Amino acid sequence: MDKATPKQDIFKANLDRAAPLLAKLKADGIGHFIDGKIMPSVSGATFETRSPIDGALLTTVARGNTEDVDRAATAAALAFRSWREMTPSLRRKLLHRVADGIENHAEDIAVLECIDTGQAYRFMAKAAIRAAENFRFFADKCTEARDGRNMPSEEHWNVSTRVPIGPVGVITPWNTPFMLSTWKIAPALAAGCTVVHKPAEWSPITAHWLAKIVKEAGIPDGVLNTVHGFGEEAGKALTQHSAIKAIGFVGESATGSAIMAQGAPTLKRVHFELGGKNPVIVFDDADLDRALDAVVFMIYSLNGERCTSSSRLLVQQTIADKFVERLTGRVRALKVGHPLDPATEIGPLIHERHLAKVCSYFDVARQDGAVIAVGGRSHDGPGGGHYVQPTLVTGANSKMRVAQEEVFGPFLTVIPFRDEADAIEIANDIKYGLTGYVWTNDMGRALRVADALEAGMIWLNSENVRHLPTPFGGMKASGIGRDGGDYSFDFYMETKHVSLARGTHKIQRLGA
Ligand code: NAD
Repeated sequence: MDKATPKQDIFKANLDRAAPLLAKLKADGIGHFIDGKIMPSVSGATFETRSPIDGALLTTVARGNTEDVDRAATAAALAFRSWREMTPSLRRKLLHRVADGIENHAEDIAVLECIDTGQAYRFMAKAAIRAAENFRFFADKCTEARDGRNMPSEEHWNVSTRVPIGPVGVITPWNTPFMLSTWKIAPALAAGCTVVHKPAEWSPITAHWLAKIVKEAGIPDGVLNTVHGFGEEAGKALTQHSAIKAIGFVGESATGSAIMAQGAPTLKRVHFELGGKNPVIVFDDADLDRALDAVVFMIYSLNGERCTSSSRLLVQQTIADKFVERLTGRVRALKVGHPLDPATEIGPLIHERHLAKVCSYFDVARQDGAVIAVGGRSHDGPGGGHYVQPTLVTGANSKMRVAQEEVFGPFLTVIPFRDEADAIEIANDIKYGLTGYVWTNDMGRALRVADALEAGMIWLNSENVRHLPTPFGGMKASGIGRDGGDYSFDFYMETKHVSLARGTHKIQRLGA
């Protein structure tokens, strides 16, 4: 459907598209995908996944444990032997076929993702296309994955090369599950690794679709395996399995710590993309119209369930009142609604437990002595699901819990600052360090602040716009390692040094 299609027609078309897909999912249930086959858990255990819109049962899902993870890891280890040897050009061709498959199913994936997660269609409509781009981008990098450096010395010809590390585990969260999982899985496969994926238990549906697409694309059995289940069971077992050489994890910082401990006995390499409480700093000389658009977008899009969201607005005192007044109007006007309605800007939150967590911060704000300028309640949305009012908290300072803790919802905390030094101090006064956003027309200042911010990614006069070759990741409690472009291969591959003697250097003669 094009832009001219009335929104009501798109809403109806989305509902019509979703209905048969959901009926089939409910009838079939979701199994693990191990060695190219969909299968139940060895134990026969399942769990339910429910709609955030109305709490209806969507389907039952296989609940994996150590035995299922062992089957998947064994399949991945076996498949690794041939997948790593496959020529890069053939691997490239297969990964492009996965991208084709994702594009062919893009509309189905988009509506299912909305229903499974509560994310609004306006953001999810393109999520599958971005996932396909992830596969295409890394497909084209297959041919350079093994590239290394030439470092000649006087006596030796020294080169480095890279080899895939082995079967890897990928553990993902529920906020934008399809797009996010491809971000990890595509580079791993391009590197020549095989994968066991453990998707989040609150959003299992589109991972199941990815498995089907991978099978249809002709990727050999065992190269991608999906084990569903809970973090403490399937997730933990994956991090402890001796055949799994590395864990790519996206989720909460506390879970990252647990995974590091769980993986220690088998010396797992880990790559962590964790939580954030990211600052957007607005100076009084900025283009305030564009800054306002970006501030609203970066916390209220994707239900605020976004690791890179700018959940702390640091605004210069000289413009704070006026800027917050305009912001207040925009937040009041945000449209909360059914996730399949293209007019919706904020859908229901993923789960009742997450709704309770977000709502608990309304009391925290009051106890902190801050002011809830907009929102501060759950919302009575269509279906009666886990809706919440977009919330704006003012009168805050950096020491308050609402300025320090990740809420992971449509919840923005405003903190005024005096000058550049004050802004930097407040921005860095936090355990997290994922992103920072700076708005100013003074380019010297923009670069100084970018330098001083303790965060892995900085956008100057921009919202978060992802460019796949660039490094993605966080500092401090926001992560370890970088994704994107060649950086991904640093994680999924071992760098090997090969040294060839020119044949003339002196070798010490012992016992001669
Ligand atoms: P979570 O840490 O609760 O769960 C993430 C995944 O880890 C799930 O699949 C879960 O089952 C699994 N898990 C839980 N405990 C485990 C254990 N002991 N061992 C192995 N696996 C385990 O996170 P969530 O609530 O699903 O997602 C929200 C969090 O993710 C937020 O903190 C958000 O900032 C973060 N996130 C970060 C990024 C990033 O790129 N930095 C991107 C998206 C989300």
